[in-house]
Amino acid sequence: MIDIHCHILPSVDDGAKHMTESIEMARAAVQQGITTIVATPHHNDGKYMNKKEEILEKVEELNSRLKKEEIDLTILPGQECRISGEIIEHYENGEVLTLNNTSKYIFIELPSSQVPLYTEKLVYDLQMKGLIPIIVHPERNAELIESPDKLYQLVKKGACTQVTAASVAGKFGKKIKKFSLDLIEANLVHFIASDAHNIKNRTFMMKEAYDVIRKEFGQDVMYMLMENAELLIEGQTIMKEIPERIKKKKLFGLLK
Ligand code: FE
Repeated sequence: MIDIHCHILPSVDDGAKHMTESIEMARAAVQQGITTIVATPHHNDGKYMNKKEEILEKVEELNSRLKKEEIDLTILPGQECRISGEIIEHYENGEVLTLNNTSKYIFIELPSSQVPLYTEKLVYDLQMKGLIPIIVHPERNAELIESPDKLYQLVKKGACTQVTAASVAGKFGKKIKKFSLDLIEANLVHFIASDAHNIKNRTFMMKEAYDVIRKEFGQDVMYMLMENAELLIEGQTIMKEIPERIKKKKLFGLLK
């Protein structure tokens, strides 16, 4: 299993505090059946700055430590980039890092309460540069929960999305779980990832999430999501179904 979103790098953001915690997280990941993790520290979110070169160095450091500890886990470089009008500029000046540094997929984090007006234009501009934006955890964005049609529009225009495993597993509550499943059903989800920050209250839950997905949607959907993570780290084109609108009826269900 591959986890494409994880705060496992030591002392760079609100994830692992130090190397000991990174190692603890690595052991927990292996127990879940995870073999590869894309380390995605926060960048430019008003609190943390983690530029490309620094991330590449830290990943190397963690990999050599894992080898020393004989933990069978590979860390690849990535970044969780807060949305801004300057992302393309920051990509071109070498600050922004694509996932596994393949110059293809880029994580875009929206503010938790809203979707900036320029998001749609940015999704277009990034694709013009040959990049594919992946909107992380849309299921936890207040505006998208209210108006899922906005996510449908972004996906229709070429954005991908990554839903958090813990959301699917029900760790963020029933509403978020239902919304996550509605998004998957509407073909609005392309990746599942942990967004793990530690092994206490923000852990992996990947196994649990894929179990829910297999039960709800069957093996094919589960394998497609798993395989997309593999295609992503290879910088290849992922599998997609035609996005659908989430039906009104379901939205009322969500508000109950
Ligand atoms: Fe994250």
